[in-house]
Parts: sequence; C-alpha cells; structure tokens
Amino acid sequence: TQAHVTAVEQARALNAYILETPERALAMADASDAKIAAGEARPLEGLPLGIKDLFCTEGTKTTAGSKILENFTPHYESAVSANLWRDGAVMLGKLNLDEFAMGSSNETSAYGNVISPWRRNGSDAPIVPGGSSGGSAAAVAAHLCLGATATDTGGSIRQPAAFTGTVGIKPTYGRCSRWGTVAFASSLDQAGPIARTVRDCAILLGSMSGSDARDTTCADLPVPDFEGAVSRGVKGLTIGIPREYRVDGMPAEIQRLWDQGAAWLKDAGATIREISLPHTQYALPAYYIVAPAEASSNLARYDGVRYGLRVPANDIVGLYEKTRAAGFGREVKRRIMIGTYVLSAGYYDAYYVRAQKIRTLIKRDFEEAYAVGVDAILTPATPSAAFGIGEKASADPVEMYLNDVFTVTVNMAGLPGISVPAGLDAQGLPLGLQLIGRPFDEETLFAASQVIE
Ligand code: GLN
Repeated sequence: TQAHVTAVEQARALNAYILETPERALAMADASDAKIAAGEARPLEGLPLGIKDLFCTEGTKTTAGSKILENFTPHYESAVSANLWRDGAVMLGKLNLDEFAMGSSNETSAYGNVISPWRRNGSDAPIVPGGSSGGSAAAVAAHLCLGATATDTGGSIRQPAAFTGTVGIKPTYGRCSRWGTVAFASSLDQAGPIARTVRDCAILLGSMSGSDARDTTCADLPVPDFEGAVSRGVKGLTIGIPREYRVDGMPAEIQRLWDQGAAWLKDAGATIREISLPHTQYALPAYYIVAPAEASSNLARYDGVRYGLRVPANDIVGLYEKTRAAGFGREVKRRIMIGTYVLSAGYYDAYYVRAQKIRTLIKRDFEEAYAVGVDAILTPATPSAAFGIGEKASADPVEMYLNDVFTVTVNMAGLPGISVPAGLDAQGLPLGLQLIGRPFDEETLFAASQVIE
C-alpha cells in the first residue's frame, strides 16, 4: 500500500485520481496486517485498489466527475465497494471519470482530462485513456493500483480497458448491485472491474458481485467461482463471429486482430462460426435515445436542495436554474436536453418508444445466436486505438459517440462483455478484443479471454 501511495503521488501528471486517500489506505493496510498476523486473512487482504468516483464512499467525497457534487460526502458506502472492503481490500483513492460517466475519452470530467500512460511510437503527444472509466484504466495501466472499480453503461469499462492494454469486464445486468452507485441510465448501468490480467478481473468480480435486496434489479443468484473458470479452456465451445460488426471504414489492422483472435480460439479447441445479429446498426442511435432519456430523469435530483452545489436565487425555480447551469458541464446538459426532448409528449412515441422496440430486437438477435449453440461472440472492442487528447472533442459530438459502436449492443441486451488486450496497432497503441456471453455466463468469458491474453 505504501508503495502504491508513493506511486500515485509521483504520477499526478496523469490526473488519474480526483482524490487520494492515503490516510484511509494506510489505516486499512494496518488492519489487514493485523488480520494476516492473526491468521484470519480474507480473500483480498491488503490489496490496494482505486475506486471510480461514481461509487459512493462513506465519509469520503464522491463527485461523479461533476462540479455539482464537488462537496458531496456520502454517509453510506456503495454495495460494490463495501463488498471489496468486506474481503479485505484497501482504498487508495477516488478515480477520475467523465462527468456522470458520460463520455468516451475522459475529456468531460470537471476535474480535467486523464492522460493515458501510453504514447504513439516516437511521439510525446498525450493520448486519451478512453472513458468514462478513464481514471480506472489509466491507474491500472500505470500501476497506480492493483485493480479498480469501473462502471459500464455503453462501453465505459471495455473501451478504456481496450485503449490502455488492460482487461475489463462488464458483467450481466444484475450481477452487481447498483446500490450506492451514482445513476446515469439505470436500465443499462453495471459495475465491473478493470485489472491487468483476466485472472485479477475474475477475482475482483467475484468479490464485487452478489445479490442485494436494496437494488431490486440485482439478481438473486449465487456468485460462481470466476477464478476457477479462468483456466477452463475453450475446447468444445462455439464462438460466433457476427458479420454485421464488419463496419465500413474499419481499419485493416482491427480486422486482422479480429481474425487472429478467432484463430487463437480455434487453435485452443473452439469451433468458429459466422453468425448474424441483424439489428446491430440500430443499437448506437437507439442507445443515444434510451441513455439520455434515463439520464434526464435521474439527474433531476440535482436541484440545489438535496445534494451538493447550491447557487442561491430569489425563488425556487431560479435556484434550480442557477444551480444546474453552474453545476453541470456541456455534455451533461446536452444529454439532459436530448433526454427531455425524446420523453416529451409530442416525441415520446417517435423516439423513446421506438428505441425501446429496437432494444427488444437487439436482445432477440443475441437470443437467437445463443439458441443455435453459440457460447460466446467475438468482436473488436473498439473501431480504433486510442486517439490524442483534443482530437475528437470537436464540435460534433457524434464523432465521439461512434466510438461506442461495438460496445453499446451488450448493454442494450443486458449481456456480459469482456475486453482483453490482443495486440498493438501500427503506432504502438494497444488494441482489445471483446467477448460477449450468455446472460450470467461470465465464466465462459473468463475462460475464452484467457486464451487470447
Ligand atoms: N460513451 C458512452 C456514453 O457516453 C458510454 C458511457 C458509459 O458506459 N458510461 O454514453
């Protein structure tokens, strides 16, 4: 823990942590030493972790990357972080993220962008770590923690993992409790770990997940032995390759990596089979209706009365307006406007209801693939390697949204998905492959991604 505390201090230029909590870390490490000395070591005893600043931590500020929560100190602990502390893990601090987890590059954080520890060959230009869990991914990649918590609403675990050469899994919707995690889009949000190996991810997910009566969408299922699944191999499994993910303009090196991943799985004993997920092309536009709709509703609670920032005004409406104008950043305001628009009386059927129908069709595509014997689906994690800071933060937000083209389908269908590092691009930046599984079958994803790793 002491070594990590020092490393975090020395790597402040990356801006991976919004808040360092060295006192809490060292106190927890002392408690771990005592447990070990007493012969009572718990499964994660003394492991120093970073916590995405979207998870409420009791007595420790939780900002969600937003100015509106700058001075918010929860008096409760999120279910996911509480599970990690129960098992003996140690908290190093709170990790930077896009504001309210809205973004793909960590450039929407009110606390400044995160810089990836990676660089293009022969260049010093700073690279984004991806988002929204960019602080988590950068901290893991730069050895500023052994593992980190993250959340994934449309790719925010898998895309930053792919951009930083780390492993990230979004489990099945309902595997981890959402209790105490700041809400973005409640029907899509899931917590999961980012770590340096598949095995580390399996161990962390085993601790983070489990039933919780405080989140009615949390599944009442036992937690499988994820770590045991890692070395299971892929003999006898059928891996689907969806033809619709061969999108226009995909760089040749991504296609090559994808073919290589399929070849590795085949060599390890899996059967490779081309499949069709016909509604794939509608997932991204439908996601960017459903997610903002839910966000606009969830973010209504930041009214200057109940939480965080309050900008005084003469009347209550003025208080709302001034607080929200000052507290939310551009991307969050854009999502609130899109969300309220698609939920408004005149447009509800044309946008929101239609997006929900598309969501059902996407889910059905996957069900049909699994029904004919496919055990997991292999795709690229992202359409490109990481980009430079500022390169895509242009006037057109759609440019950024296109990054999520391979990841959002998984959230729309509630399925588990893992991103595993699979190689480097021509400029020396990491690339990831994604494996998508059956509901509550994260075990197969651990087994198959271990073959690629
Ligand atoms: N990039 C996507 C968005 O901005 C996904 C974010 C996430 O998964 N939290 O909505």
